Amino acid sequence: MDLLKKRIVEDGTVLPGNVLKVDNFLNHQVDAKLMDQIGEEFARLFKEEKITKVVTVESSGIAPALTTAIHLGVPLIFARKHKSLTLTDDLYTASVYSYTKQVSNDISIDKRFLAPDDRILIIDDFLANGQAVQGLLEIAQLAKVSVAGIGIVIEKSFQKGHTMIEKSGIRLESLARIASLDNGKVTFVE
Ligand code: 5GP
Repeated sequence: MDLLKKRIVEDGTVLPGNVLKVDNFLNHQVDAKLMDQIGEEFARLFKEEKITKVVTVESSGIAPALTTAIHLGVPLIFARKHKSLTLTDDLYTASVYSYTKQVSNDISIDKRFLAPDDRILIIDDFLANGQAVQGLLEIAQLAKVSVAGIGIVIEKSFQKGHTMIEKSGIRLESLARIASLDNGKVTFVE
């Protein structure tokens, strides 16, 4: 998506540890118009997939997942993060290691919101090592829902997540694919 790539080049900054900071349009201040265009694009890509719900993880996934859900005309569910402890019978839970925060959190979705006849689309802001997506796939498995695909706003293709999803056979659509952040410069996959 050219508009998104242009914005990454203009406003993104590369931090140590291969982290791309995009907090002026995605991760803190949100460009609502751009989010709407992102949602429209994901909805166009997945419109034939009979999706019943869009699923993401709080908090940075919510903005693009919400606009996607609006364009698909389905509800959005965001998995909630909490400290591992409370094992509750009415939640589907998975453990996720955070790439940027370097801590493990549990993520959960209330059992009331997923049923075996659901066909979900997973949306997230970034794909790095794929831990967040993996956690959502575990929850999908527990809930016995089918996964129509995964939509990522910014994929760091040089990290493990891309290959992991490719191996799973699940459809992956990333709107911007970054080949490298070396020397503080963003290089996109051709
Ligand atoms: P993963 O679970 O794929 O390793 O990482 C995905 C999550 O980590 C994303 O939801 C995002 O919140 C965060 N993340 C990973 N890499 C980056 C990055 O380069 N920049 C930002 N802003 N967040 C990232």
